[in-house]
Amino acid sequence: MVSDLTQIDLPSRLFDELAGVAEGEPTLAVVTQASSSSQKNDLVTEVFAGPFAGRVREHGLTPLFCSADEAVLRATRFRAIMLVGETVEEILPLVTRLRSDSATVLTPILAALRRAAKPTYRLLSAGWSRYVDGVLEGEEAMWQPGPALQRLRQIDARQWPLQPIDDRFPEASRRQLLILRWMVTRELDALEPVRDPASPLAFSYAPFDLVSDPTADLDALTRLGLLKRVVVDRVCACPSCDDARLLFREVCAACRSTDVRRGDVVHHYACGHVQSEAFFRRGNGLVCPSCAQPLRHVGIDYERPATLLYCNGCGHAAAEGTTEARCLACGATPLAGDVRERSIHKYLITSEGTEAARSSLMPATPSEV
Ligand SMILES: [Zn+2]
Ligand SMILES: [Zn+2]
Ligand SMILES: [Zn+2]
Repeated sequence: MVSDLTQIDLPSRLFDELAGVAEGEPTLAVVTQASSSSQKNDLVTEVFAGPFAGRVREHGLTPLFCSADEAVLRATRFRAIMLVGETVEEILPLVTRLRSDSATVLTPILAALRRAAKPTYRLLSAGWSRYVDGVLEGEEAMWQPGPALQRLRQIDARQWPLQPIDDRFPEASRRQLLILRWMVTRELDALEPVRDPASPLAFSYAPFDLVSDPTADLDALTRLGLLKRVVVDRVCACPSCDDARLLFREVCAACRSTDVRRGDVVHHYACGHVQSEAFFRRGNGLVCPSCAQPLRHVGIDYERPATLLYCNGCGHAAAEGTTEARCLACGATPLAGDVRERSIHKYLITSEGTEAARSSLMPATPSEV
């Protein structure tokens, strides 16, 4: 194994340290986003100078500092990964990198944030913590790492009895086995969709939605009888790009302008002109902008058909507009009737699914759903 390591072009520090760690020694990869190596050394020294390093060793783990790429490359050498950063923003790219690679998608991950800052909305949103297995926040001195480290060891321990996945399996089968293994190692009875405005599905199936939409794999597992699905919601999907983040609103039926308002429309009986009341205003009175006659008595000269939708774009007034969606992903504007509906499911693992995760054998013939 050591000779194997020498063939890989890793930074010498990792090489030295990995070479110095016995093959079977349970190792915790410590990954930070810090750009310069002196910044990285400061961060790591500060975090591991205190009692924390002792707690890590109490849980039988040897900490080893490396980059996210190195953690992926040498994934089988690490029992767990700890991400250290100042804020959520700093560690999110690391979470994304590690959870989007099949080598580390199942590795127990602990995120340690030295400053407890709220994530900005446009990143992974508040749901980011579902992509890791534990979070420590705030001053290192305040961390209570015991339960988090214990959880990492438990997940790791559940992983070992599982049979290795056959390299000759098709890519899709290997992805599907990883989903079942995630559920078994995390002791999840169901993979639940969680509302997520940052996800194209509007729901996320952490951590399998970082690379692509995992529902094809989940539905394939359902056809094989390894998962059982239950509808929990329905979303509308863009007919152009399938994104579920659509903004529905009433627009002008004639020109599809969104500059419409309902209510204060005036209808002048004498000439039949219909327009927003603002166009009739002259001082305290009303004058028809079309025929220039003054309007005096409501019900005699004019009416206010409050139910009309008036378009400021083309001047069209009608009882009803039309409902159009704006796709927030691709910008398409399909009519509501052209939007496809799609069910959102939660997926329960069956006893056959648990067995498949353990044995790494997939049933050959799909059973009836
Ligand atoms: Zn008029
Ligand atoms: Zn219009
Ligand atoms: Zn779209």
